[in-house]
Amino acid sequence: MRIVLISTPIGFLGSGKGGGVELTLNSLVSGLVSLGHSVEVIAPKNSKLSESNEKAKLYFVEGEDQISWQHQNYNSPISIPDNSLLAGMLEKGLNIAKQADVLLNMSYDWLPIWMTLNVEIPIAHIISMGSESSAIRNLISKVYAKYPDNFAFHSKLQANDYPFIKNPTIIGNGFELDNYTFQNTLKGPLAWVGRVAEEKGLEDAAYIANELGEKLNVWGLIEDKTYASKIEKLFPQGTIDWRGFLATNDLQKELGKCRVLLNTPKWNEAYGNVIVEALACGVPVVAYKRGGPSEIIQHGKTGYLADPDDKETMLSYVKTIEKIKRKNCRAWVEKNASTDIFANKVLNWLNVVINEYK
Ligand code: UDP
Repeated sequence: MRIVLISTPIGFLGSGKGGGVELTLNSLVSGLVSLGHSVEVIAPKNSKLSESNEKAKLYFVEGEDQISWQHQNYNSPISIPDNSLLAGMLEKGLNIAKQADVLLNMSYDWLPIWMTLNVEIPIAHIISMGSESSAIRNLISKVYAKYPDNFAFHSKLQANDYPFIKNPTIIGNGFELDNYTFQNTLKGPLAWVGRVAEEKGLEDAAYIANELGEKLNVWGLIEDKTYASKIEKLFPQGTIDWRGFLATNDLQKELGKCRVLLNTPKWNEAYGNVIVEALACGVPVVAYKRGGPSEIIQHGKTGYLADPDDKETMLSYVKTIEKIKRKNCRAWVEKNASTDIFANKVLNWLNVVINEYK
């Protein structure tokens, strides 16, 4: 299959601004290429694919980023900046896709979805968030009426935000297992990984660290500086140890030394890449039962699930985390979330999309 892929219109690949989509894109390219498919990626200038993806062609586009939807109001109108990066990527992608089998869109925005109704080229959309915009949700519903197969989701609970979709396609996610080393350290520190932004609920993890009289290691891009300093001031100095945004290899080395990852989403988390990355290193995860984490973590086997916002229960689970066998965590990832498993699910879905146009 010849697949043209459109990246996120928020930050270049490697900047961290695109959140989990950056890693997902790399895993998918790697899985598709290893299964013998041709992949061309349209991405913002300065983007880098992971070293293992040098076989994929990368095209650069310059322009203005979109505003991320999780930081706009649900009823905000669609805005497209002058010299729009998204429009530029789409233009380039559509042009190349004339000779390809399918255009695969990984941006969560209105324009590529609207375009689906207006061109003959099959456009398939990996929806990377729950419903964060009424305009996008309504447009998905409209496109779905004509092309019921063109949307895929990372988890069932994420897809529930789009209840008009009957039997949604769930593709999970994939991870390059060789990039993560299993570590059997039982007495390490507490970890939290993610974009530092309100929807990630860092304050609840800091609360738990403070209750335990420990520090919390935080890795990730500080997307919202005001929020970060607000959270920092809520707890005694030094509770949060800001460890910065690291490339995957450095992140996994540090993460693997930890005894548990805390995951505290305040929104309907579409999937939660960081959970699987922790598991791949052998680190159990305690998370809120909200979106993707509930479908990834096996309660009592690879970590624990607390009711949403129930910090006290989360704290009690952290206290008994040594009951979880770290080998189970790695084993789950090997069995359920490799790049090959992910790429095969995506290919099966893309075949259905392509057939719709025949
Ligand atoms: N991440 C990273 N380095 C860091 C912290 C995070 O590369 O120091 C990446 C991590 O690998 C993951 C992404 O940031 O792929 C966060 O994705 P997730 O799905 O957890 O949440 P999102 O940001 O998409 O809401």
